Amino acid sequence: MIHICANADCGKEFKIINQEKTFYAKVNLPLPIYCPDCRRTRRLQFKNPRKLYKRPCSSCQKEIITTYPLEFTSPVYCSVCFEEKFN
Ligand SMILES: [Zn+2]
Ligand SMILES: [Zn+2]
Repeated sequence: MIHICANADCGKEFKIINQEKTFYAKVNLPLPIYCPDCRRTRRLQFKNPRKLYKRPCSSCQKEIITTYPLEFTSPVYCSVCFEEKFN
């Protein structure tokens, strides 16, 4: 499964391996939207641990833990719905 980095300045393609997918599903986090390079850069930018928010999945309404606050109005999906939509 090929993803395009969500960083408009980057736009690099990256793969999410099955092992990673399983991990994200297990910890109930959405799949990363940035390529590994941008993820590393972003991690360095945020010295404090990223704040996690509880919000309902935009599709099935299941409660998920996400880095996007409710004010972030774009849809955020649980790992199951994400798979369905983007696979
Ligand atoms: Zn990137
Ligand atoms: Zn869902």
